[in-house]
Amino acid sequence: MNCKAERLTPPGVAWSRVLKGERGKYPAVVRQALPILCMQCEEPECMKVCPTKATKQREDGIVIVDEEQCVGCKYCAIACPYGARNFVEKWTSYFPEDQALSPLEEYAKKHWVEKFGEGSATKCDFCVERVEKGLQPACVEGCPANARFFGDMEDPESEISRLIKTERGFQVAPEFGTNPRVFYLPPR
Ligand code: SF4
Repeated sequence: MNCKAERLTPPGVAWSRVLKGERGKYPAVVRQALPILCMQCEEPECMKVCPTKATKQREDGIVIVDEEQCVGCKYCAIACPYGARNFVEKWTSYFPEDQALSPLEEYAKKHWVEKFGEGSATKCDFCVERVEKGLQPACVEGCPANARFFGDMEDPESEISRLIKTERGFQVAPEFGTNPRVFYLPPR
């Protein structure tokens, strides 16, 4: 929800979706949640196929989309093995079309169209504007269970480097060969 509130994504667009399932055998069964977002891959397939070079990788590794350059061809959506790309052909309301937009929705629509345009590719960018201000991504800051961590993987002393090492952090589907920079910690 924090992602939705921060980025004002329209209906049907989830930059961080949560897969839910169960693990274990009855009676020792537990519910499991697995958030899936853009993995900020070191070798991003989405970037390789982009015909207009709209997808770029910043020096800090965050993969971003330049909406001005994106022509909406959707090659990136097909190439991304994690299904992390979303297309918004047209901003739509959460409420019936014949209903007037609330002030909040007017704001959301204006913000979205100004920032991302319409008909272009979008995805999680680790709340890059927040990161540039020294803040945590909204999903990390808002997680009530403190289950998300964000930091510098290149720094061996950082909290995430320590967690990945000591808690046996793993990548989802590393066989895709994109070297995701999002790691998961096994259940404790
Ligand atoms: Fe690109 Fe998909 Fe990797 Fe994100 S998860 S960087 S969209 S290939």
